[in-house]
Amino acid sequence: MKVLRASRMDRCIGCHSCSLACARMVHKQLSWNKAGIRIKSSGGITTGFEATLCLACDPAPCVLACPTGAFSQRRGGGVVVKRELCIQCGKCAEACPVDAVYLDAGGNPFVCIHCGRCVPFCPHTCLEMQDAPHAHTSQKMVGEVTEDAG
Ligand code: SF4
Ligand code: SF4
Repeated sequence: MKVLRASRMDRCIGCHSCSLACARMVHKQLSWNKAGIRIKSSGGITTGFEATLCLACDPAPCVLACPTGAFSQRRGGGVVVKRELCIQCGKCAEACPVDAVYLDAGGNPFVCIHCGRCVPFCPHTCLEMQDAPHAHTSQKMVGEVTEDAG
């Protein structure tokens, strides 16, 4: 199993192609609020960009917080979302230590599913799929402008 990592954010130009690819191809809706990966400035227009996305925690706090089983842990890291079970309570988003669960206006959660479909859309190869480590700490992926997320 592999997981998505934003390991070369020093190359990011902030085009948001990854977010748009995710919204369009994975979540089937072209909306900023429906992407599993978000790109933002790391502080100013000259300082680069950082990516926020699921770290594939094991165990996953979002899964433990979900009262209905709508979030379950994916083998190898990351989560599987069953939308039909979701009651829009927002507990998953509250529990995520890196703010990687996004809620749309209706309270529906959107999160990276580590499918890798965004990877070829990045013009500067900032993103890659890596072998899933067994466990991840709850580090925020800020600072990735200079760090390897490995
Ligand atoms: S808590 Fe956040 S980072 Fe951890 S598995 Fe869930 S969505 Fe991913
Ligand atoms: S891996 Fe898939 S779900 Fe995750 S951000 Fe990329 S396209 Fe979206």
